[in-house]
Amino acid sequence: MSEKISGIAASAGIAIAKAFILENPELIIEKKTVENTGLEVERFSAAVEKAKGELQVIKENALKELGEDKAAIFAAHLLVLEDPELIDAVKTKIQNENVNAESAMDEISGMFISMFEQMDNEYMKERAADIRDVSKRVLAHLLGVQFSSPATISEEVVIIAEDLTPSDTAQLNRKFVLGFATDIGGRTSHSAIMSRSMEIPAVVGTKTVTEKISSGTLLIIDGLDGEVIVDPSNEELDLYKKKQEEYKAQKAEWAKLVNEQTTTADGHHAELAANIGTPQDVKGVLENGAEGVGLYRTEFLYMGRDQLPTEEEQFKAYKEVLEKMEGKPVVIRTLDIGGDKELPYLDLPKEMNPFLGFRAIRLCLEQQEIFRTQLRALLRASAYGNLKIMFPMIATLVEFRSAKQVLLEEKEKLVKEGVSVSENIEIGIMVEIPSTAVLSDRFAKEVDFFSIGTNDLIQYTMAADRMNERVSYLYQPYNPAILRLIRMVITAAHKEGKWVGMCGEMAGDPIAIPILLGLGLDEFSMSATSVLPARSQLSKLSKAEAEKHVDTILNMDTAEDVVKFVNENF
Ligand code: PEP
Ligand code: MG
Repeated sequence: MSEKISGIAASAGIAIAKAFILENPELIIEKKTVENTGLEVERFSAAVEKAKGELQVIKENALKELGEDKAAIFAAHLLVLEDPELIDAVKTKIQNENVNAESAMDEISGMFISMFEQMDNEYMKERAADIRDVSKRVLAHLLGVQFSSPATISEEVVIIAEDLTPSDTAQLNRKFVLGFATDIGGRTSHSAIMSRSMEIPAVVGTKTVTEKISSGTLLIIDGLDGEVIVDPSNEELDLYKKKQEEYKAQKAEWAKLVNEQTTTADGHHAELAANIGTPQDVKGVLENGAEGVGLYRTEFLYMGRDQLPTEEEQFKAYKEVLEKMEGKPVVIRTLDIGGDKELPYLDLPKEMNPFLGFRAIRLCLEQQEIFRTQLRALLRASAYGNLKIMFPMIATLVEFRSAKQVLLEEKEKLVKEGVSVSENIEIGIMVEIPSTAVLSDRFAKEVDFFSIGTNDLIQYTMAADRMNERVSYLYQPYNPAILRLIRMVITAAHKEGKWVGMCGEMAGDPIAIPILLGLGLDEFSMSATSVLPARSQLSKLSKAEAEKHVDTILNMDTAEDVVKFVNENF
């Protein structure tokens, strides 16, 4: 009998394949005395060999599918396993102290890790991260614990995981990973956002998917209705294959709008842009007919690796995006790390409330070398297209002024060095913290544009973690409180002659679109796959009609009232 597990539809489409369980188990190490140390050393060597074999496969896969820089991480891991200083020290400890291989490996690698971590040299510090990863892999073999990495996948599967971290997602190979389902997360968690930009069907926030599914089970991921069908019957397979075909046909219909302008029924032009995470995503942007990039989340360039990207690497990525967009606007956001996007190699202490913590512009203003490197790369790339720079998580005008000051300093330095930098770079901010929305009239005098980040604006306004499905009922894009904040921002910007975009997921939401049109939003930036459905919807709406309904909607009591009104009137 098949079983249906419900969750949140995170990325449209239907995927049918066997389950691959992505596990990241905790390793519990006990120290034990062993009699036969010879056998224990053999057991250790066998685990090392297994880890090596695995890393070899991962490295080759990464080289083929993900590029040289990702493959280099695994090459470095292999080198650790070939280092006699580490490996021989473990063997000696087993022999001299009659201890089990797990505890010997754990202690020796721990010693090396703290030694490297204390060094002043960045390169040496990174070796600590390599040793930590490799030692975990060997320990998992010794303990007989399943330890899986998305980069090892070499056949068609759907991934099942408690959560996919953005760095797991960055390692996914689109050729083999047809879909995924997770226990936790919501529509705006970053794994969900990545799945949409990769066009992989996904269901998140199922609560129980890892508990109920075992490796190799046939699954259907229904990313349209947010369901996972476990071990489907033949009838269900036929039904979902039909649904898959229908979705393809619907996409083909939308595809006819790819070269059209986005014009409402009463002749108003709305700008539809797309959000990207990597230069590879530009392909999807162009194929879906977006008129620009409204948000390039640069943090993915910093993830799935073990050191900061250099200025040159960043420059190449930004230049590639700008060139491929051929003069169309590209809004690049500076590093927005923190929250659910971690960079293990920065070794930041764990925080009680990471979404309210040391992140994004807060980190960039304190660790200015990281910020300045990125700004230089951006400024150099500006000569190759229509670049707009945007700062994330701005909470105060002082933060904005400081960030702009750093940008202008780097610009001046580059100009003095004779590097060509565009003279027309607009500088804007994300409005995703309520204080900034409330003070948008003051901000509007100093910024060139706003982009409303509803993913965070909703979580901060409603005090409901965007990752936590238990409070997802409070995550209410249509709550009149949110809509009023949006109106405040748009009115303030227009008063100063500035434009306002929205790059949170709400911009592509069919219920929100008529309201946003009525509120006068200038640019809608969304997952590339939402652009054509949005264009189709907007072509049937009248801006004048939408404007007439705005006051009624913003004076409603609840989100439910708003949804009902939109469904009945648009
Ligand atoms: C947002 O907060 O709405 C946003 C677009 O940024 P991110 O989803 O990357 O936090
Ligand atoms: Mg945000």
